[in-house]
Amino acid sequence: VPSLADVVAHLDRWYPPSAAAEWDAVGPVCGDPDADVSRVLLAVDPVEEVVDEALAVGADLLLVHHPLYLRGTSTVYAGTTKGRLVQRLVTHGCALVVAHTNADDADHGVSHALAEAVGLTGPLAPLVPSEASPATGTGRYGVLAEPTTLGAFAQQVADALPGTPVGVRVGGAPDREVRTVAVCGGAGDAFLDVAAAVGADVYVTADLRHHLAGEHLACGGPALVDPGHWASEWPWLPVAARLLEGALGPGTVDVRVSTTVTDPWTALRRRELR
Ligand SMILES: [Zn+2]
Repeated sequence: VPSLADVVAHLDRWYPPSAAAEWDAVGPVCGDPDADVSRVLLAVDPVEEVVDEALAVGADLLLVHHPLYLRGTSTVYAGTTKGRLVQRLVTHGCALVVAHTNADDADHGVSHALAEAVGLTGPLAPLVPSEASPATGTGRYGVLAEPTTLGAFAQQVADALPGTPVGVRVGGAPDREVRTVAVCGGAGDAFLDVAAAVGADVYVTADLRHHLAGEHLACGGPALVDPGHWASEWPWLPVAARLLEGALGPGTVDVRVSTTVTDPWTALRRRELR
């Protein structure tokens, strides 16, 4: 049975902490490096429902994408929301490890997984190549096997990703033809210009701000498909789970992927359109 240190060493190989953004907080948050890891749960967000799930399935490692303490902390007191999560994890012997921006850009990373999930089966290139390894970097783009319409593509995205109460938002004419697709898991509106510059017909990303999205569409930029932040990053979980199973040996470690929807938007109500 591998130790937590063994598992972290594998993760560091695929998602080197040195590749994380300067402002990020990645790596182990709690746990004993010498402790055995026999069950792992992967999830996007280190929130209460996910910790509940990790403890319910008896995980001894919870691997998440988003940092619990992005801006650091001076306390893990259980009287605080986050401290309580740490206390519960420690009490039940479950480690917490974060792979955030170091997982975003990597091969087998978040944007790569999103690209494959939305139907890009051919070669992929990064929207913004990393200086250290230009084959990786921020976002991905590639070409669909067959051109389709924006409406059909958006439905394909909705069908490929886990369902959420808000669903998939679409910007652009539904009959517009799309073939070249750019993606960026999570918040990607900073790369609208890059998606346009690489000739994308459609850009799949989340957290698109009103003015940026509107001006981009008005200038003839790619159509927009926004599946929500959580759903856009979720496809990385099964990819990382398969890597862990492969490296640790099938049957050694039970690797599970959480399907608990932890997007902050929990309902959608709209007035009937006439
Ligand atoms: Zn994110």
